[in-house]
Amino acid sequence: MSETSTSTIITADTAIQRERMRLTFDLDVDICVVGAGLAGLTVALEAARMGASVAVLEGRHVGWNASGHLLGTVMPGFSLPIGELIERVGFEDTRELWALSKEGAEYVRTNATDELMPGIALSEGALEVSNVDVGEQLISRLQMLGEDFETEVEGWQVDRVRDQLKTGRYFHGVYYPKAFQIDGRRYVHALAALAKRAGARIFEDTPVVSIDPSGIRKRIVTPSARLRASHIVLAGNIHLGAPLRRLSETLLPVWRYAGVTAPLGSQLSEVITFRGSVTDTDGIDHFRIVEGDRLMWASPETTWAARPQRFAGAVARRIRTIFPRLGHVEIEEVFGGAIGQTVHGMPQIGQLRRGLWVASGFGRQGLNTSAMAGLLIARGILWGDERWRLFSPFELVWAGGPTGRVAGYVVGMWGRGSSAVAGVLARHRERVRAQERLREARLAEANRQAGSRPAPRRPSPGGGGRPRPPRPRPQPPPRANATDGPYPNPPQAGEGP
Ligand SMILES: Cc1cc2nc3c(=O)[nH]c(=O)nc-3n(C[C@H](O)[C@H](O)[C@H](O)COP(=O)(O)OP(=O)(O)OC[C@H]3O[C@@H](n4cnc5c(N)ncnc54)[C@H](O)[C@@H]3O)c2cc1C
Repeated sequence: MSETSTSTIITADTAIQRERMRLTFDLDVDICVVGAGLAGLTVALEAARMGASVAVLEGRHVGWNASGHLLGTVMPGFSLPIGELIERVGFEDTRELWALSKEGAEYVRTNATDELMPGIALSEGALEVSNVDVGEQLISRLQMLGEDFETEVEGWQVDRVRDQLKTGRYFHGVYYPKAFQIDGRRYVHALAALAKRAGARIFEDTPVVSIDPSGIRKRIVTPSARLRASHIVLAGNIHLGAPLRRLSETLLPVWRYAGVTAPLGSQLSEVITFRGSVTDTDGIDHFRIVEGDRLMWASPETTWAARPQRFAGAVARRIRTIFPRLGHVEIEEVFGGAIGQTVHGMPQIGQLRRGLWVASGFGRQGLNTSAMAGLLIARGILWGDERWRLFSPFELVWAGGPTGRVAGYVVGMWGRGSSAVAGVLARHRERVRAQERLREARLAEANRQAGSRPAPRRPSPGGGGRPRPPRPRPQPPPRANATDGPYPNPPQAGEGP
Protein backbone atom coordinates (compact mmCIF):
# COMPACT_ATOMS: atom_id res chain seq x y z
CA MET A 1 0.00 0.00 0.00
CA SER A 2 1.40 3.38 -0.90
CA GLU A 3 1.86 5.72 2.05
CA THR A 4 0.33 8.69 0.34
CA SER A 5 -1.49 9.46 -2.83
CA THR A 6 -0.11 12.29 -4.90
CA SER A 7 -1.35 14.73 -7.46
CA THR A 8 0.38 17.50 -9.36
CA ILE A 9 -0.35 21.17 -8.89
CA ILE A 10 0.66 24.18 -10.93
CA THR A 11 -0.19 27.34 -9.06
CA ALA A 12 -1.28 29.93 -11.59
CA ASP A 13 0.39 32.91 -10.00
CA THR A 14 3.78 31.43 -9.26
CA ALA A 15 3.99 28.82 -12.01
CA ILE A 16 5.50 26.43 -9.51
CA GLN A 17 4.95 22.79 -10.31
CA ARG A 18 4.92 20.49 -7.32
CA GLU A 19 3.77 17.10 -6.18
CA ARG A 20 1.05 17.14 -3.53
CA MET A 21 1.09 14.40 -0.92
CA ARG A 22 -2.18 13.38 0.77
CA LEU A 23 -2.17 11.57 4.11
CA THR A 24 -3.75 8.14 3.80
CA PHE A 25 -2.39 6.29 6.84
CA ASP A 26 -2.46 6.78 10.60
CA LEU A 27 0.38 8.62 12.22
CA ASP A 28 1.84 9.40 15.64
CA VAL A 29 3.82 12.64 16.01
CA ASP A 30 4.97 15.11 18.66
CA ILE A 31 3.29 18.07 16.96
CA CYS A 32 0.43 18.23 14.47
CA VAL A 33 0.05 21.58 12.73
CA VAL A 34 -3.29 22.38 11.07
CA GLY A 35 -2.77 24.69 8.07
CA ALA A 36 0.16 25.18 5.68
CA GLY A 37 0.15 28.95 5.49
CA LEU A 38 2.95 31.16 6.77
CA ALA A 39 2.06 30.58 10.42
CA GLY A 40 1.75 26.79 10.32
CA LEU A 41 4.85 26.32 8.21
CA THR A 42 6.98 28.50 10.47
CA VAL A 43 5.93 26.51 13.55
CA ALA A 44 6.70 23.31 11.62
CA LEU A 45 10.10 24.51 10.44
CA GLU A 46 11.24 25.68 13.85
CA ALA A 47 9.87 22.67 15.76
CA ALA A 48 11.50 20.28 13.27
CA ARG A 49 14.78 22.14 13.58
CA MET A 50 14.57 21.65 17.35
CA GLY A 51 14.21 17.92 16.85
CA ALA A 52 10.44 17.34 17.17
CA SER A 53 8.51 15.02 14.84
CA VAL A 54 6.05 17.26 13.00
CA ALA A 55 3.15 16.67 10.60
CA VAL A 56 1.47 19.58 8.81
CA LEU A 57 -2.07 18.88 7.56
CA GLU A 58 -3.32 21.22 4.86
CA GLY A 59 -6.85 21.05 3.50
CA ARG A 60 -5.97 22.40 0.05
CA HIS A 61 -2.35 23.13 -0.80
CA VAL A 62 0.60 25.07 0.57
CA GLY A 63 -0.11 28.81 0.35
CA TRP A 64 -3.65 28.25 -0.91
CA ASN A 65 -5.02 31.32 0.87
CA ALA A 66 -3.50 34.69 1.86
CA SER A 67 -0.01 33.28 2.45
CA GLY A 68 0.38 32.52 -1.25
CA HIS A 69 -1.14 35.82 -2.42
CA LEU A 70 0.61 38.70 -0.77
CA LEU A 71 2.67 41.74 -1.70
CA GLY A 72 5.70 40.69 0.28
CA THR A 73 6.36 43.74 2.46
CA VAL A 74 8.14 42.88 5.70
CA MET A 75 8.01 45.52 8.42
CA PRO A 76 8.20 45.58 12.20
CA GLY A 77 5.01 46.02 14.23
CA PHE A 78 1.43 44.82 14.10
CA SER A 79 -1.87 45.79 12.49
CA LEU A 80 -2.68 47.61 15.75
CA PRO A 81 -1.04 51.06 15.85
CA ILE A 82 1.72 51.34 18.43
CA GLY A 83 -0.05 54.09 20.43
CA GLU A 84 -3.08 51.85 20.96
CA LEU A 85 -0.83 48.97 21.93
CA ILE A 86 0.75 51.10 24.67
CA GLU A 87 -2.72 52.07 25.92
CA ARG A 88 -3.69 48.43 26.04
CA VAL A 89 -0.68 46.73 27.66
CA GLY A 90 1.56 49.55 28.88
CA PHE A 91 4.92 50.78 27.71
CA GLU A 92 7.21 47.96 28.87
CA ASP A 93 5.14 45.13 27.39
CA THR A 94 4.74 47.10 24.17
CA ARG A 95 8.52 47.36 23.97
CA GLU A 96 8.83 43.58 24.32
CA LEU A 97 6.09 42.92 21.79
CA TRP A 98 7.65 45.35 19.35
CA ALA A 99 11.07 43.70 19.76
CA LEU A 100 9.45 40.32 19.00
CA SER A 101 7.84 41.74 15.87
CA LYS A 102 11.27 42.95 14.74
CA GLU A 103 12.71 39.52 15.44
CA GLY A 104 9.96 38.07 13.22
CA ALA A 105 11.00 40.39 10.38
CA GLU A 106 14.66 39.46 10.74
CA TYR A 107 13.72 35.79 10.76
CA VAL A 108 12.03 36.23 7.36
CA ARG A 109 15.16 38.00 6.08
CA THR A 110 17.37 35.11 7.21
CA ASN A 111 15.11 32.56 5.54
CA ALA A 112 14.85 34.62 2.36
CA THR A 113 18.61 34.53 1.92
CA ASP A 114 18.71 30.73 2.31
CA GLU A 115 19.90 28.78 -0.71
CA LEU A 116 16.44 27.18 -0.99
CA MET A 117 14.95 30.55 -1.74
CA PRO A 118 16.51 31.70 -5.02
CA GLY A 119 14.49 34.36 -6.83
CA ILE A 120 12.88 35.66 -3.65
CA ALA A 121 14.07 39.10 -4.85
CA LEU A 122 14.82 40.89 -1.64
CA SER A 123 14.71 44.69 -1.89
CA GLU A 124 15.06 47.25 0.88
CA GLY A 125 12.98 50.05 2.38
CA ALA A 126 9.31 50.78 2.99
CA LEU A 127 7.48 54.08 3.21
CA GLU A 128 4.33 54.72 5.21
CA VAL A 129 2.59 57.81 3.90
CA SER A 130 -0.11 59.90 5.46
CA ASN A 131 -3.34 60.81 3.66
CA VAL A 132 -3.70 63.86 5.88
CA ASP A 133 -1.40 66.69 6.90
CA VAL A 134 -0.32 65.62 10.40
CA GLY A 135 3.34 66.57 10.59
CA GLU A 136 3.41 67.04 14.37
CA GLN A 137 1.90 63.66 15.13
CA LEU A 138 4.46 62.18 12.83
CA ILE A 139 7.37 63.77 14.67
CA SER A 140 6.26 62.39 18.04
CA ARG A 141 5.78 58.96 16.48
CA LEU A 142 9.25 59.09 14.93
CA GLN A 143 10.79 59.99 18.26
CA MET A 144 8.96 57.15 19.96
CA LEU A 145 9.93 54.55 17.34
CA GLY A 146 13.54 55.70 17.16
CA GLU A 147 14.29 56.38 20.81
CA ASP A 148 11.98 54.08 22.74
CA PHE A 149 11.58 51.20 20.31
CA GLU A 150 15.03 51.17 18.71
CA THR A 151 13.64 51.08 15.21
CA GLU A 152 15.44 52.85 12.41
CA VAL A 153 13.08 55.41 10.92
CA GLU A 154 13.32 58.66 8.99
CA GLY A 155 10.67 61.35 8.79
CA TRP A 156 10.03 62.60 5.28
CA GLN A 157 8.59 66.05 4.72
CA VAL A 158 5.76 66.48 2.22
CA ASP A 159 8.16 67.72 -0.49
CA ARG A 160 10.36 64.67 -0.21
CA VAL A 161 7.38 62.30 -0.34
CA ARG A 162 6.02 64.08 -3.40
CA ASP A 163 9.39 64.14 -5.05
CA GLN A 164 9.40 60.32 -4.97
CA LEU A 165 5.66 59.80 -5.45
CA LYS A 166 4.18 62.34 -7.85
CA THR A 167 0.76 62.74 -6.31
CA GLY A 168 -0.98 65.39 -4.26
CA ARG A 169 -2.72 62.68 -2.20
CA TYR A 170 0.11 62.03 0.22
CA PHE A 171 1.61 64.31 2.83
CA HIS A 172 4.33 63.31 5.29
CA GLY A 173 5.93 59.90 5.40
CA VAL A 174 7.79 57.56 7.74
CA TYR A 175 10.59 55.71 5.99
CA TYR A 176 11.76 52.36 7.38
CA PRO A 177 15.18 51.69 5.82
CA LYS A 178 15.39 48.22 7.43
CA ALA A 179 12.01 47.08 6.12
CA PHE A 180 12.21 45.01 2.97
CA GLN A 181 10.17 43.12 0.41
CA ILE A 182 10.36 39.66 -0.97
CA ASP A 183 8.45 37.76 -3.61
CA GLY A 184 5.71 36.93 -1.11
CA ARG A 185 4.00 34.45 -3.38
CA ARG A 186 7.13 32.32 -3.65
CA TYR A 187 8.23 32.65 -0.05
CA VAL A 188 5.58 30.32 1.39
CA HIS A 189 6.57 27.51 -0.99
CA ALA A 190 10.23 27.98 -0.16
CA LEU A 191 9.31 27.93 3.55
CA ALA A 192 7.62 24.57 2.98
CA ALA A 193 10.80 23.30 1.30
CA LEU A 194 12.87 24.45 4.30
CA ALA A 195 10.45 22.74 6.71
CA LYS A 196 10.67 19.48 4.75
CA ARG A 197 14.43 19.68 4.69
CA ALA A 198 14.35 20.06 8.49
CA GLY A 199 12.27 16.87 8.73
CA ALA A 200 8.65 18.09 8.90
CA ARG A 201 6.12 16.13 6.84
CA ILE A 202 3.56 18.15 4.91
CA PHE A 203 0.34 16.57 3.71
CA GLU A 204 -1.91 18.47 1.30
CA ASP A 205 -5.50 17.76 0.27
CA THR A 206 -5.82 16.62 3.88
CA PRO A 207 -8.47 18.65 5.73
CA VAL A 208 -8.75 18.18 9.47
CA VAL A 209 -12.40 17.46 10.15
CA SER A 210 -12.30 17.10 13.93
CA ILE A 211 -9.99 17.16 16.89
CA ASP A 212 -10.20 15.81 20.42
CA PRO A 213 -7.82 17.92 22.48
CA SER A 214 -8.49 16.17 25.81
CA GLY A 215 -5.88 13.81 27.19
CA ILE A 216 -2.12 13.79 26.91
CA ARG A 217 -2.19 12.35 23.39
CA LYS A 218 -4.63 14.39 21.33
CA ARG A 219 -6.55 12.98 18.40
CA ILE A 220 -6.91 14.47 14.96
CA VAL A 221 -9.24 13.12 12.30
CA THR A 222 -8.96 13.61 8.54
CA PRO A 223 -11.17 11.95 5.86
CA SER A 224 -8.66 9.15 5.31
CA ALA A 225 -6.42 9.01 8.38
CA ARG A 226 -6.16 9.53 12.14
CA LEU A 227 -3.29 11.11 13.98
CA ARG A 228 -2.19 11.29 17.58
CA ALA A 229 -0.03 14.13 18.82
CA SER A 230 1.12 15.65 22.11
CA HIS A 231 0.51 19.13 20.73
CA ILE A 232 -1.86 20.52 18.12
CA VAL A 233 -1.21 23.92 16.59
CA LEU A 234 -4.27 25.51 14.98
CA ALA A 235 -2.97 27.71 12.16
CA GLY A 236 -5.98 27.50 9.86
CA ASN A 237 -6.85 31.21 9.89
CA ILE A 238 -10.47 31.90 8.94
CA HIS A 239 -10.97 28.53 7.22
CA LEU A 240 -10.36 26.37 10.26
CA GLY A 241 -14.06 25.50 10.43
CA ALA A 242 -15.28 22.27 11.99
CA PRO A 243 -12.31 21.38 14.23
CA LEU A 244 -12.93 24.47 16.38
CA ARG A 245 -15.67 26.62 14.90
CA ARG A 246 -15.80 28.89 17.92
CA LEU A 247 -12.18 29.83 17.27
CA SER A 248 -12.90 30.71 13.61
CA GLU A 249 -15.72 32.92 14.82
CA THR A 250 -13.29 35.11 16.72
CA LEU A 251 -11.94 36.28 13.35
CA LEU A 252 -13.52 38.76 11.00
CA PRO A 253 -12.65 37.52 7.50
CA VAL A 254 -11.69 40.17 4.99
CA TRP A 255 -10.84 39.31 1.39
CA ARG A 256 -8.20 41.61 0.00
CA TYR A 257 -7.37 41.82 -3.70
CA ALA A 258 -4.31 42.97 -5.60
CA GLY A 259 -3.40 43.48 -9.22
CA VAL A 260 -0.23 43.61 -11.28
CA THR A 261 -0.16 46.03 -14.21
CA ALA A 262 1.21 45.46 -17.68
CA PRO A 263 4.70 46.96 -18.15
CA LEU A 264 4.33 50.74 -17.86
CA GLY A 265 7.65 51.71 -19.41
CA SER A 266 9.52 54.88 -18.53
CA GLN A 267 6.38 56.80 -17.51
CA LEU A 268 6.31 54.77 -14.28
CA SER A 269 9.72 56.01 -13.14
CA GLU A 270 8.65 59.58 -13.97
CA VAL A 271 5.77 59.23 -11.51
CA ILE A 272 7.23 56.87 -8.89
CA THR A 273 10.92 56.90 -8.11
CA PHE A 274 10.65 55.18 -4.72
CA ARG A 275 11.69 51.54 -5.09
CA GLY A 276 10.40 50.03 -1.84
CA SER A 277 6.83 49.38 -0.69
CA VAL A 278 4.38 52.14 0.00
CA THR A 279 1.47 51.83 2.43
CA ASP A 280 -0.86 54.56 3.57
CA THR A 281 -1.55 55.09 7.23
CA ASP A 282 -5.23 54.22 6.79
CA GLY A 283 -4.35 50.80 5.39
CA ILE A 284 -6.24 51.42 2.14
CA ASP A 285 -3.53 51.24 -0.51
CA HIS A 286 -0.36 49.19 -0.57
CA PHE A 287 1.86 49.08 -3.63
CA ARG A 288 5.33 48.65 -5.00
CA ILE A 289 7.15 48.42 -8.32
CA VAL A 290 7.89 44.90 -9.49
CA GLU A 291 9.91 43.62 -12.45
CA GLY A 292 11.28 47.10 -13.16
CA ASP A 293 8.22 48.78 -14.65
CA ARG A 294 5.06 47.11 -13.35
CA LEU A 295 3.00 48.18 -10.38
CA MET A 296 1.71 45.63 -7.88
CA TRP A 297 -1.19 47.22 -6.04
CA ALA A 298 -3.51 45.98 -3.28
CA SER A 299 -6.61 47.90 -2.28
CA PRO A 300 -10.13 46.49 -2.78
CA GLU A 301 -11.63 44.53 0.11
CA THR A 302 -14.84 42.56 0.75
CA THR A 303 -16.14 40.47 3.63
CA TRP A 304 -17.28 37.74 1.28
CA ALA A 305 -15.28 35.57 -1.10
CA ALA A 306 -15.38 36.83 -4.67
CA ARG A 307 -13.45 36.07 -7.84
CA PRO A 308 -10.34 38.30 -7.76
CA GLN A 309 -10.71 38.95 -11.52
CA ARG A 310 -13.78 41.06 -10.72
CA PHE A 311 -11.51 43.64 -9.10
CA ALA A 312 -9.17 44.39 -12.00
CA GLY A 313 -11.15 47.54 -12.85
CA ALA A 314 -11.23 48.68 -9.22
CA VAL A 315 -7.44 48.35 -8.92
CA ALA A 316 -6.90 50.27 -12.19
CA ARG A 317 -9.26 53.05 -11.02
CA ARG A 318 -7.48 53.29 -7.69
CA ILE A 319 -4.09 53.64 -9.39
CA ARG A 320 -5.50 56.38 -11.59
CA THR A 321 -7.00 58.18 -8.59
CA ILE A 322 -3.68 58.26 -6.76
CA PHE A 323 -1.44 58.77 -9.79
CA PRO A 324 -3.53 60.51 -12.47
CA ARG A 325 -0.41 61.02 -14.59
CA LEU A 326 -0.29 57.28 -15.25
CA GLY A 327 -3.71 57.47 -16.92
CA HIS A 328 -5.50 54.20 -17.51
CA VAL A 329 -3.30 51.20 -16.77
CA GLU A 330 -3.92 47.69 -17.94
CA ILE A 331 -4.12 45.07 -15.19
CA GLU A 332 -2.61 41.79 -16.36
CA GLU A 333 -3.07 39.71 -13.25
CA VAL A 334 -5.31 39.84 -10.18
CA PHE A 335 -5.06 37.79 -7.03
CA GLY A 336 -6.42 37.86 -3.50
CA GLY A 337 -6.84 36.03 -0.25
CA ALA A 338 -8.72 36.13 3.03
CA ILE A 339 -7.09 37.67 6.03
CA GLY A 340 -8.36 37.12 9.55
CA GLN A 341 -8.81 40.26 11.60
CA THR A 342 -9.30 40.12 15.33
CA VAL A 343 -11.57 42.50 17.19
CA HIS A 344 -8.61 43.97 19.12
CA GLY A 345 -6.28 44.10 16.08
CA MET A 346 -3.57 41.86 17.57
CA PRO A 347 -2.78 38.28 16.48
CA GLN A 348 -3.99 35.27 18.44
CA ILE A 349 -0.90 33.51 19.74
CA GLY A 350 -0.84 31.13 22.68
CA GLN A 351 -2.00 27.98 24.39
CA LEU A 352 -5.79 27.54 24.62
CA ARG A 353 -5.51 24.51 26.87
CA ARG A 354 -2.67 22.15 27.65
CA GLY A 355 -1.16 21.09 24.32
CA LEU A 356 -3.65 23.01 22.15
CA TRP A 357 -2.09 26.10 20.55
CA VAL A 358 -3.33 28.81 18.24
CA ALA A 359 -1.50 31.01 15.71
CA SER A 360 -3.97 33.15 13.75
CA GLY A 361 -5.43 36.58 13.16
CA PHE A 362 -2.43 38.25 11.54
CA GLY A 363 -4.50 40.66 9.49
CA ARG A 364 -2.78 42.65 6.76
CA GLN A 365 0.63 42.33 8.39
CA GLY A 366 1.29 38.62 8.42
CA LEU A 367 4.85 38.10 7.28
CA ASN A 368 6.74 39.29 10.37
CA THR A 369 3.95 38.44 12.82
CA SER A 370 3.40 34.85 11.66
CA ALA A 371 7.17 34.31 11.76
CA MET A 372 7.20 35.64 15.31
CA ALA A 373 4.26 33.38 16.22
CA GLY A 374 6.00 30.34 14.76
CA LEU A 375 9.11 31.01 16.80
CA LEU A 376 7.18 31.70 20.02
CA ILE A 377 5.03 28.58 19.75
CA ALA A 378 7.82 26.20 18.78
CA ARG A 379 9.95 27.53 21.64
CA GLY A 380 6.96 27.45 23.98
CA ILE A 381 6.34 23.77 23.22
CA LEU A 382 9.92 22.56 23.15
CA TRP A 383 11.85 24.91 25.41
CA GLY A 384 9.17 26.02 27.84
CA ASP A 385 9.71 29.62 26.68
CA GLU A 386 6.74 31.53 28.07
CA ARG A 387 6.99 34.74 26.08
CA TRP A 388 3.85 33.81 24.17
CA ARG A 389 2.08 34.94 27.36
CA LEU A 390 2.73 38.53 26.29
CA PHE A 391 -0.25 37.97 23.98
CA SER A 392 -2.54 36.86 26.83
CA PRO A 393 -4.15 40.32 27.21
CA PHE A 394 -5.54 39.83 23.71
CA GLU A 395 -8.12 37.18 24.46
CA LEU A 396 -10.32 35.47 21.95
CA VAL A 397 -13.17 37.87 21.34
CA TRP A 398 -16.13 36.68 19.32
CA ALA A 399 -16.17 38.61 16.05
CA GLY A 400 -19.94 38.24 15.73
CA GLY A 401 -20.41 35.38 13.25
CA PRO A 402 -22.24 36.31 10.02
CA THR A 403 -23.82 39.39 11.60
CA GLY A 404 -20.43 40.55 12.76
CA ARG A 405 -19.10 40.12 9.24
CA VAL A 406 -21.77 42.41 7.81
CA ALA A 407 -21.22 44.90 10.63
CA GLY A 408 -17.47 44.62 10.04
CA TYR A 409 -17.97 45.43 6.38
CA VAL A 410 -20.06 48.48 7.19
CA VAL A 411 -17.54 49.64 9.79
CA GLY A 412 -14.67 48.95 7.38
CA MET A 413 -16.34 50.90 4.59
CA TRP A 414 -17.16 53.69 6.99
CA GLY A 415 -13.52 53.76 8.10
CA ARG A 416 -12.34 53.92 4.50
CA GLY A 417 -14.97 56.57 3.77
CA SER A 418 -13.93 58.76 6.68
CA SER A 419 -10.27 58.41 5.71
CA ALA A 420 -11.21 59.52 2.22
CA VAL A 421 -13.09 62.53 3.62
CA ALA A 422 -10.13 63.40 5.86
CA GLY A 423 -7.88 63.18 2.80
CA VAL A 424 -10.15 65.46 0.77
CA LEU A 425 -10.19 68.00 3.63
CA ALA A 426 -6.43 67.87 4.04
CA ARG A 427 -5.90 68.48 0.33
CA HIS A 428 -8.50 71.27 0.35
CA ARG A 429 -6.72 72.97 3.28
CA GLU A 430 -3.43 72.61 1.46
CA ARG A 431 -4.89 74.30 -1.65
CA VAL A 432 -6.34 77.10 0.46
CA ARG A 433 -2.97 77.63 2.16
CA ALA A 434 -1.23 77.72 -1.22
CA GLN A 435 -3.76 80.29 -2.49
CA GLU A 436 -3.28 82.37 0.66
CA ARG A 437 0.49 82.25 0.22
CA LEU A 438 0.12 83.35 -3.40
CA ARG A 439 -2.23 86.17 -2.44
CA GLU A 440 0.12 87.33 0.31
CA ALA A 441 3.07 87.21 -2.06
CA ARG A 442 1.14 89.26 -4.66
CA LEU A 443 0.13 91.76 -1.99
CA ALA A 444 3.69 92.06 -0.72
CA GLU A 445 4.96 92.53 -4.25
CA ALA A 446 2.28 95.16 -4.93
CA ASN A 447 3.20 96.98 -1.68
CA ARG A 448 6.88 96.76 -2.55
CA GLN A 449 6.27 98.21 -5.99
CA ALA A 450 3.99 100.88 -4.60
CA GLY A 451 6.73 101.88 -2.10
CA SER A 452 9.69 101.93 -4.48
CA ARG A 453 8.34 102.92 -7.82
CA PRO A 454 5.74 105.32 -9.11
CA ALA A 455 2.41 103.69 -9.71
CA PRO A 456 2.11 102.58 -13.31
CA ARG A 457 0.63 105.15 -15.57
CA ARG A 458 -2.90 104.59 -16.62
CA PRO A 459 -2.96 105.11 -20.37
CA SER A 460 -5.04 108.11 -21.26
CA PRO A 461 -7.61 107.75 -24.00
CA GLY A 462 -5.33 109.65 -26.29
CA GLY A 463 -2.27 107.70 -25.29
CA GLY A 464 -0.42 110.85 -24.11
CA GLY A 465 -0.75 113.22 -21.17
CA ARG A 466 1.38 113.95 -18.09
CA PRO A 467 2.22 111.23 -15.59
CA ARG A 468 0.32 111.53 -12.34
CA PRO A 469 2.26 111.98 -9.10
CA PRO A 470 2.41 108.81 -7.01
CA ARG A 471 -0.43 108.38 -4.55
CA PRO A 472 0.44 108.85 -0.90
CA ARG A 473 0.64 105.41 0.80
CA PRO A 474 -1.93 104.86 3.50
CA GLN A 475 -0.36 104.97 6.98
CA PRO A 476 -0.77 101.84 9.11
CA PRO A 477 -2.97 102.29 12.20
CA PRO A 478 -1.10 102.72 15.51
CA ARG A 479 0.11 99.26 16.73
CA ALA A 480 -1.77 97.75 19.62
CA ASN A 481 0.21 96.34 22.50
CA ALA A 482 0.84 92.65 21.76
CA THR A 483 -1.06 91.58 24.86
CA ASP A 484 -4.09 93.74 24.09
CA GLY A 485 -7.19 92.43 22.42
CA PRO A 486 -8.38 88.95 21.63
CA TYR A 487 -5.81 88.24 18.89
CA PRO A 488 -2.35 89.09 20.19
CA ASN A 489 -0.93 87.11 17.25
CA PRO A 490 -2.88 87.14 14.03
CA PRO A 491 -4.24 83.72 13.12
CA GLN A 492 -2.21 82.05 10.35
CA ALA A 493 -3.77 81.03 7.10
CA GLY A 494 -5.15 77.54 7.38
CA GLU A 495 -5.50 77.65 11.15
CA GLY A 496 -8.80 77.52 12.88
CA PRO A 497 -11.48 74.87 13.01
C1 LIG B 1 -3.64 40.79 -1.14
C2 LIG B 1 -2.89 40.60 0.15
C3 LIG B 1 -1.66 41.21 0.33
C4 LIG B 1 -0.95 41.04 1.52
N1 LIG B 1 0.28 41.63 1.63
C5 LIG B 1 0.99 41.45 2.77
C6 LIG B 1 2.30 42.01 2.86
O1 LIG B 1 2.82 42.61 1.93
N2 LIG B 1 2.96 41.86 4.04
C7 LIG B 1 2.43 41.17 5.10
O2 LIG B 1 3.09 41.09 6.15
N3 LIG B 1 1.20 40.61 5.01
C8 LIG B 1 0.48 40.72 3.88
N4 LIG B 1 -0.76 40.14 3.78
C9 LIG B 1 -1.31 39.40 4.95
C10 LIG B 1 -0.79 37.97 5.01
O3 LIG B 1 -0.92 37.37 3.74
C11 LIG B 1 -1.58 37.13 6.04
O4 LIG B 1 -1.63 37.79 7.26
C12 LIG B 1 -0.92 35.77 6.26
O5 LIG B 1 -0.68 35.13 5.04
C13 LIG B 1 -1.80 34.86 7.14
O6 LIG B 1 -1.17 33.60 7.22
P1 LIG B 1 -1.84 32.37 7.94
O7 LIG B 1 -0.88 31.25 7.91
O8 LIG B 1 -2.38 32.78 9.27
O9 LIG B 1 -3.17 32.02 7.10
P2 LIG B 1 -3.48 31.38 5.68
O10 LIG B 1 -2.61 31.87 4.63
O11 LIG B 1 -4.95 31.54 5.51
O12 LIG B 1 -3.16 29.83 5.88
C14 LIG B 1 -4.03 28.97 6.59
C15 LIG B 1 -4.07 27.62 5.90
O13 LIG B 1 -4.78 26.71 6.74
C16 LIG B 1 -5.52 25.83 5.94
N5 LIG B 1 -6.63 25.28 6.75
C17 LIG B 1 -7.63 25.95 7.34
N6 LIG B 1 -8.44 25.11 8.01
C18 LIG B 1 -7.94 23.88 7.82
C19 LIG B 1 -8.37 22.57 8.24
N7 LIG B 1 -9.46 22.40 8.99
N8 LIG B 1 -7.63 21.50 7.86
C20 LIG B 1 -6.50 21.66 7.11
N9 LIG B 1 -6.07 22.87 6.67
C21 LIG B 1 -6.78 23.96 7.02
C22 LIG B 1 -6.00 26.71 4.79
O14 LIG B 1 -6.31 25.91 3.65
C23 LIG B 1 -4.80 27.64 4.57
O15 LIG B 1 -3.95 27.17 3.56
C24 LIG B 1 -1.49 40.25 2.58
C25 LIG B 1 -2.70 39.62 2.40
C26 LIG B 1 -3.39 39.77 1.20
C27 LIG B 1 -4.68 39.04 1.01
